[in-house]
Amino acid sequence: MDPTSLAIAIAMPATAHHDRVTINTGTWGVWLLSDHWKQRVRILRCLGGGLVYLLVCLLMNWVVGHGYLPAGPVLAISGAIAVTMAVFYAVLRSNMNLRFRDASLTMPQMVMAVTYASWTYTMGGPARDVMLFVLAPLLLYGFRYLRPLQVRLLSAYAIVAMGAAMVWLLHAHPHTYDMAQELLRFMLLAVIGVTLSQFTKNDGEETSGFLLTLMHLVFSSDPKQRLRIQRSMVAAVNFVICTAVLAYSVSVGAVNETAGWALGIYMMGNCLLFYTLLRSGFNLRFADPSLTLPQIMVAITCVVGAYAILEESRGASLMLLVLVLVFGLFNLTALQARLAAFFALVAQGLTMLAMNALEPGRYPVRQELIHFLFACTTLPTISLLAGQLSDLRSRLRARKEELAIAVERIQTLATRDELTGLFNRRHMVETLSLQKRFSDRGGRVFCIGILDIDHFKRVNDTHGHGAGDEVLRNFAHNVQQELRESDVIARWGGEEFLLMLTECRVGQADAMMERVREVVNHKLMCPEYPELHIRFSVGLAEQRFDEEVADTIERADQALYRAKRAGRNRTVLAS
Ligand code: GH3
Ligand code: MG
Ligand code: MG
Repeated sequence: MDPTSLAIAIAMPATAHHDRVTINTGTWGVWLLSDHWKQRVRILRCLGGGLVYLLVCLLMNWVVGHGYLPAGPVLAISGAIAVTMAVFYAVLRSNMNLRFRDASLTMPQMVMAVTYASWTYTMGGPARDVMLFVLAPLLLYGFRYLRPLQVRLLSAYAIVAMGAAMVWLLHAHPHTYDMAQELLRFMLLAVIGVTLSQFTKNDGEETSGFLLTLMHLVFSSDPKQRLRIQRSMVAAVNFVICTAVLAYSVSVGAVNETAGWALGIYMMGNCLLFYTLLRSGFNLRFADPSLTLPQIMVAITCVVGAYAILEESRGASLMLLVLVLVFGLFNLTALQARLAAFFALVAQGLTMLAMNALEPGRYPVRQELIHFLFACTTLPTISLLAGQLSDLRSRLRARKEELAIAVERIQTLATRDELTGLFNRRHMVETLSLQKRFSDRGGRVFCIGILDIDHFKRVNDTHGHGAGDEVLRNFAHNVQQELRESDVIARWGGEEFLLMLTECRVGQADAMMERVREVVNHKLMCPEYPELHIRFSVGLAEQRFDEEVADTIERADQALYRAKRAGRNRTVLAS
């Protein structure tokens, strides 16, 4: 097996499911894995797990070398893992797994992983929390492939096994480990386990249950609003990080405590304000419901505020000013970007003036001027770029719209008949072959009818080609009106139409044709010439199970020929 395949299987467990992902393996790779792609994916996935185990075992042995873990139990666990992996590999490679409903053996593999994690926990040591930590990604990975019931069972097993490990640890070393601490860990595990067990997938791809409800609750169920809130949240994360940095600066005495607190509260308050505006739907009242410009303006006031209180390290805040404007690059119009840059410069300049007036010693003119000139070159450049990007965006949008219209037009041209608007012959051929496959699978019959206007040549000859066209259009429209939703009519040739009547026997189709005839007989097909009466003939054939569609059409055509021979204005059923 080559390392790339393994990497693919590990990195893409979700997609490796499908046969679209072909994994290139050499001949010995085929021997080691399997010649069947599905089995190969299962084995690769199992081996990927083995690789992770190997790394963990190596790590544990390394820790043993430093005296943090006892050698005996570590050796026992490593041996047990090696045996288990060998068993799983043997079962998968011998195709024994195919006897089970879950041929990937996900559940047994997960159960073993949880067992080893809790077993490792019993060895104690300060690093035992790693095992608790390992459970989360492990369970999540398993959940991708497990059924909801299995997920719940696995979570319950993880909680029980870890609980048992903790009890064992407390019992074996009552003086080393503290009951309260272990209990806290257990409670945490229980909460996480129960929460994770809600991460189950439905038959569809949608995440269900708790996660979905939570997503909808936090981000709204409307996809557009969700996107806006998520974007605002990215900014909020930045604010939180900045607040943390600010708290650190306060703690080391780099920033005045009151000023630091004030700015921190202001930033958090703004995050909360915009979240409330977006989540409540209040934003929808504005021309730009994303509230990009207001969010950027407010962020600028935060950065300028930081500049005012950061004292020695205030130069760093200029970088944040740039970051804020970069946020706007993708959303603002050219004008808005210029407005934002202008606002930033003015706010920055006024702050510098004010600080210089308040504390000329700490904010000397020369330094402030250098800062301001720096801002004066950077910010307008960004707004210029934002403008260009905005132009590019609108051009792309226009191009996309043009393309969509063109595609629609091409689709119409390719599938429709220009005169009547009905499907054309090519599209009908495709529809028929599709219907044939449906019918063969479901054992349902359908009928094909060919409908030809009687003596149509005379219409052209007597009233002109324009009147003929008019008749064709009205005729097509009237016949289509009489059909069911599931039936399809197409213009097959000049004054010939092909009908596909689904889920219907030839007798019913015949009755339907008589109904159509009744309607056509009583309608004016060309209002200009009320004396013009249109009659038509039909050949009907029921599609036979073992028959090609072309042969059914041929039989319908023969029946039509007989209808014409028998005097027209009638329906003849194919033999
Ligand atoms: P029958 O009862 O045997 O079907 O006689 P018919 O005159 O209807 O049949 P024939 O095949 O002899 O003539 C069909 C005519 O339909 C010939 C052609 O000029 C006319 N036609 C075909 N396509 C169009 C069209 O798009 N518009 C018009 N106005 N006439 C068309
Ligand atoms: Mg005709
Ligand atoms: Mg004809």
